[in-house]
Amino acid sequence: AAKNAGRNRHFWFSGTMEDELFRRNAVEAGMRQGIAAGEFVPYYEQQVDLNTGKLLGFEMLARWESPALGLVAPDDFIPIAEETGMIGSLSFAVMRRAFTDARDWDPSLTLSVNISPSQLRDPWLSQKLLKLLTETGFPPSRLEIEITETSLYDNLGLAQTIIASLKNQGIRVALDDFGTGYSSLAHLRALPFDRIKIDRSFVTSMMGNAESAAIVQAITRLGDSLGLPVTAEGIESKDIEQRLLSLGLAKGQGWHFGKPMTVEAARSLLAAHKMLAAEEEALPLPDE
Ligand code: C2E
Ligand code: MG
Ligand code: MG
Ligand code: MG
Repeated sequence: AAKNAGRNRHFWFSGTMEDELFRRNAVEAGMRQGIAAGEFVPYYEQQVDLNTGKLLGFEMLARWESPALGLVAPDDFIPIAEETGMIGSLSFAVMRRAFTDARDWDPSLTLSVNISPSQLRDPWLSQKLLKLLTETGFPPSRLEIEITETSLYDNLGLAQTIIASLKNQGIRVALDDFGTGYSSLAHLRALPFDRIKIDRSFVTSMMGNAESAAIVQAITRLGDSLGLPVTAEGIESKDIEQRLLSLGLAKGQGWHFGKPMTVEAARSLLAAHKMLAAEEEALPLPDE
């Protein structure tokens, strides 16, 4: 019954508490199986140099290719994964695929991955990541971890230790969704971030909303003053891109450049840019 109900999209949004609990249980069971069955996959969103248009790398965004539910977005499964303690196995399953995909891409390309608050409470996070990097052959120097401020509330000390250890391995650390949390400025001082990412809510609305535009400008200046590079996410139009350029922003991502794509689509894009690693480029074409 749960499986049939899951096929009905409206089931996700049904009203009562009993329905909600039933849905949760069904999704949780489906997720546990899905992790084992390899249904959680990385999608890739381009990150570009706004001045040159050059492709700099990708942000990995998890998707659930569920046979019962279709393609499920992270906002619908990450919170459940966090609550049920599945986030670690889910995250590492998706990262394993992404590191394996991306190790064969041009060595100039970086990969950004999101790390949940509960993962930053795992004292072994850094060791586990290093082990995965070693197993997959993906260089730590090409990896950037994105964390949000929510990660820093419960245990700033542990977060500091984990971040220091990641940085010792050559992994960079970015503060994601900047501007939406609390006491952002204190966190910028307490932790050695390599980058700030402006939350997309400010960027997508900046053409029609003076407050958003002022906030984007203020964060850009803050980054300049602190010597921290700033990335804008949620660039949906050429107008926004132009406006950000005029503010001196150097790096961005968003639907204007492309929506998150499958690994196959990413490989085609890289082939067109001649940014696949040498052996792959050298593969003979079927007709030759
Ligand atoms: P995020 O890290 O802030 O990722 C950016 C989100 O903005 C992505 O949503 C992306 O698809 C969306 N986006 C990008 N460009 C645009 C744009 O121009 N306009 C609009 N309206 N949206 C844009 P997505 O993929 O649904 O991911 C949502 C959040 O889920 C992410 O926010 C991240 O916090 C989390 N997430 C995704 N994958 C993972 C993962 O593997 N592990 C963890 N822990 N969290 C993840
Ligand atoms: Mg992110
Ligand atoms: Mg973000
Ligand atoms: Mg987010």
